[in-house]
Amino acid sequence: MIQDMDFPTGGVRAKARCDELGVAPFSDQPDGLFRPYLGPAHKATQERLSQWMTEAGMRVETDAVGNIIGHYAGTTPDAPVLLVGSHVDSVRDGGRYDGMLGVLLGIELVSHFHRTGRRFAFALEVIGFGDEEGSRFPTYMMGSRSAAGLTQQIDDNVTDPEGVTLRDALAAWGLETSRFMTARRQNVLAYVEAHIEQAPYLDRAALPLGLVRGIASQCRYRVTLTGQADHAGTAMHERRDALAAAAEAITAIEKIGAQDPADLVTTVGWVSVENGAPNIVPGRVVLTIDIRAVTPGVREDVAQQIGDTLQTLCIRRHIGLEIERIQDLKGALCDKRLNTLLKQAIEQSSGTTPPLLLSQAGHDAMIMAHLAPMTMLFIRCKDGISHNPAESVDDADVEAAHQAMVTFVERFGETM
Ligand SMILES: [Zn+2]
Repeated sequence: MIQDMDFPTGGVRAKARCDELGVAPFSDQPDGLFRPYLGPAHKATQERLSQWMTEAGMRVETDAVGNIIGHYAGTTPDAPVLLVGSHVDSVRDGGRYDGMLGVLLGIELVSHFHRTGRRFAFALEVIGFGDEEGSRFPTYMMGSRSAAGLTQQIDDNVTDPEGVTLRDALAAWGLETSRFMTARRQNVLAYVEAHIEQAPYLDRAALPLGLVRGIASQCRYRVTLTGQADHAGTAMHERRDALAAAAEAITAIEKIGAQDPADLVTTVGWVSVENGAPNIVPGRVVLTIDIRAVTPGVREDVAQQIGDTLQTLCIRRHIGLEIERIQDLKGALCDKRLNTLLKQAIEQSSGTTPPLLLSQAGHDAMIMAHLAPMTMLFIRCKDGISHNPAESVDDADVEAAHQAMVTFVERFGETM
């Protein structure tokens, strides 16, 4: 294969730029990285990204929800669009590569074609979503939801931990929720996202890149168990102990989640005991359940099974049971045709065959699947650690991802 000058270094530069953006002023915390939606670090980051996009031959805009978009024209003015992207926001004390690496690989991709003077029958667009993590406001994926043209019920009176409303934060950027719908991307052929794996599969398999088969559906429940608060001297057979019932429920939920190790996870991540004290039999407990699975239908079956199990144990223990669904995020399967192209691109450029992975973590791609066929490329991260300053990727792996994306776009062009 003939390699031009930037080919061995585009990925390395993308990683170096993630490192540059990992500290102030691109972070709102003095040590480490925190880049919340619409904060000063987000602003500084948009300016730097805009500069890099311009250098890579793109026309740059910020849309109605605060996403940044770089446009690299096709051979005709009204050419359809191949959209590449990920998110620019981070969690508090986050890693440098989660999200941002996918945006910077998009810029490197365009930079490669710009430098070689190559245009396609489609335009290339690079998008950096502003709100994926929901790390500032109790929202999530507003950036991709708007770009995908999904209707959203948004309460702009919600506040961040400092008491700033979403409405005021948007106004500071000249934005308002009523205009989010105008952010819908037009004429999109496909969406491609490169992202660190955030799980240890690739690291353990000693492989640089993986292909995503699908992103898990998620649902969350709030469960209230009501027994009878009582003196700790109450005889055991007289009690209606809500916490003991919760303990049994948690163990049962864990067991149900272990039924399909390849594609199912269940988590009780939060428990609250009302008026808990060493000398009180707990009367009321609230807990959350998070269920994730990629295969359509599994999540619903498991939710039903957990509901039945909880009901049976609560009847036996004379405990009141209330289950409320508090979140419902539909998963998505990657497009088979795009996956085949991406697999061939990875094989051609890196000489490795990528495994087909399931993503239990949510990504913008699951939202963009509403707009266009999508696919995702996973990049090995050390020990699978993410949402943590210890997040780490290898130069060589990011380089392999860059080369795979370049080859993917060329092959995509051939199929048009
Ligand atoms: Zn991410």
